[in-house]
Amino acid sequence: MPSAELLNEAQRLMTICNACRYCEGFCAVFPAMELRTKFDAEDTVYLANLCHNCRGCYYACQYAPPHEFGVNVPQTLSALRLDSYRDFAWPHVLAGLFRRNGLALGLISLASLGLIVALVLGWQDASVVFSSHTGPGAFYEVIPYRLMVVPALVLSGLIVLALGIGLARFWRAIGGRWRELADLPALARGGWDALRLTYLGGGGHGCNYPDAGFSQRRRWLHHLTFYGFGLDLLATSTAAVYHHVFAWQAPYPYTSLPVVLGTVGGLGLLVGPAGLLWLKWRSDPRPAAESVWGMDVGFLVLLFLTSLSGLVLLAARETAAMGSLLVIHLGFVAGLFVTFPYGKFVHAVYRYAALVRYAQERNRNSTS
Ligand code: SF4
Ligand code: SF4
Repeated sequence: MPSAELLNEAQRLMTICNACRYCEGFCAVFPAMELRTKFDAEDTVYLANLCHNCRGCYYACQYAPPHEFGVNVPQTLSALRLDSYRDFAWPHVLAGLFRRNGLALGLISLASLGLIVALVLGWQDASVVFSSHTGPGAFYEVIPYRLMVVPALVLSGLIVLALGIGLARFWRAIGGRWRELADLPALARGGWDALRLTYLGGGGHGCNYPDAGFSQRRRWLHHLTFYGFGLDLLATSTAAVYHHVFAWQAPYPYTSLPVVLGTVGGLGLLVGPAGLLWLKWRSDPRPAAESVWGMDVGFLVLLFLTSLSGLVLLAARETAAMGSLLVIHLGFVAGLFVTFPYGKFVHAVYRYAALVRYAQERNRNSTS
């Protein structure tokens, strides 16, 4: 569980907010808070993961610093979220990666890149990597298909396992029961709120980011990132169907479905993270928790580099640089995937679960 100091501070704030209730229309956190009269560890962890860090309640609050009450809800809930990520990490021995997460992400990505370079150069003659290859199967002349796919499948299985165990721990910790995970209306409602980023909308004005002004920029940039990532996953799945069902080997034509999906997704994944980094750079540090800075920045940089290396590979795939660019791109992809359960990516899993829980609570409350 998060540190006693952080839990006490969250409980103090929730008690003040529950009496004040000025912010109840801002997001899901305040209505969920109002269903409670006291706040134990499980409530505060749930509310922390329900918070989208829109910062609306900080700028609206008459008790925010320098007031003696020092109410700073986004800062405390951000720090609490990070602590909860550590607590639910599996295997727990890797939870320490959340401590200096930006550094950990950088080192793991470099190690992944180094490992792929060593594997490829151990497998192939260097002249194969540095010469040009064109036509169907060109990528696999540099890195054999099985060497590319088998480790990726094993890694994907481990990532799904780690995220699944983390999700199960989170669900139990916030008081969820297993059968409630099959609550289809709540799953759909939570999915709708997650896909729309309802609670970054500020009820229509947008969130207060990077400063006190209202703006939809963060929401749209997050959409570009999320849907860009989704399109890239779809492109990879389509390419797998081409390979295994139709026996068509990559690289595919520029107008083919996997390349079009991958290019559009890659552009989203370039503009979204770059814009979010720019907003973060300009953002007011007062409602932020210092401890989450490295995690947020490290994840965005890694997403950006993964996308950039993929697009450069696409543009230069018919040149002698293709082999080196393929190795670099796969290095970033491996670094990104290995760190999924130990970085910012987990917020997607826990926040969705918190939104599902909120949908269930709201439903129970409206029928009681
Ligand atoms: S953040 Fe401030 S204004 Fe909003 S409910 Fe809490 S105490 Fe009231
Ligand atoms: S920062 Fe935004 S989402 Fe989080 S509690 Fe405040 S108003 Fe709600």
